[in-house]
Amino acid sequence: LIELRDVNKYYGDLHVLRDIDLTVGKGEVVVVIGPSGSGKSTLCRTINRLETVQSGTIRLDGQPLPEEGKDLARLRAEVGMVFQSFNLFAHKTVLQNVSLAQIKVRRRKREDADRRSRELLDRVGLLNQADKYPARLSGGQQQRVAIARALAMEPKALLFDEPTSALDPEMINEVLEVMRQLAREGMTMVVVTHEMGFARSAANRVVFMADGRIVEDRSPEEFFTNPRSERAKDFLSKIL
Ligand code: ATP
Ligand code: MG
Repeated sequence: LIELRDVNKYYGDLHVLRDIDLTVGKGEVVVVIGPSGSGKSTLCRTINRLETVQSGTIRLDGQPLPEEGKDLARLRAEVGMVFQSFNLFAHKTVLQNVSLAQIKVRRRKREDADRRSRELLDRVGLLNQADKYPARLSGGQQQRVAIARALAMEPKALLFDEPTSALDPEMINEVLEVMRQLAREGMTMVVVTHEMGFARSAANRVVFMADGRIVEDRSPEEFFTNPRSERAKDFLSKIL
């Protein structure tokens, strides 16, 4: 579904993605881990073209990513992204947050969008919060709204960049549980996270990055029990 071939990206002189080859099949859950600055966020952002790359190809469903305009908006709907900071609209209610892009990008009627939004809010356990403003919700609840909003676009894949890093510990699990449920339902997901429990239980593959390179790309079982590279061993010894 998602295919990166020989992708290189620079910020000025800084070479942040080096010869990246990555394939994510339909329904696969790929967890991306690695030290700070290794390029994990940049990798995510290139997949829905929040960043451009200097060389290599990125394909979605066999098609190269669009360059600009309407096709780019469609791409961002098809490859949803959930960030560490929830990025909800503060002056809109939870329901409006989930409905907005459905109306603007998917051209749905408000009542159809709202109906769909309520279904999704129900799915993430927040139907009773639909008319509140985001500031009245906990961080975990806000992140679940952000997930519902991404799902409302009926994405082909979802990218998560440290979705639980800004959350208090007691709220992390409610977000991970929603993500586990999505994984079970067959959603294609690329997840940057430090939650190794999630990686072990939900990932089909773990991709370990260091210095802009993919150093390992293996099953969680293999990666955690027998990391091959020194970089990965060192990283795991610090976080486990
Ligand atoms: P973290 O775990 O801290 O989130 P990361 O693996 O997500 O790190 P990236 O955010 O992808 O790392 O950054 C990779 C490298 O690119 C870093 O050296 C970072 O300083 C640099 N970088 C990121 N964004 C920009 C930017 N907009 N302009 C210049 N350099 C950037
Ligand atoms: Mg990052």
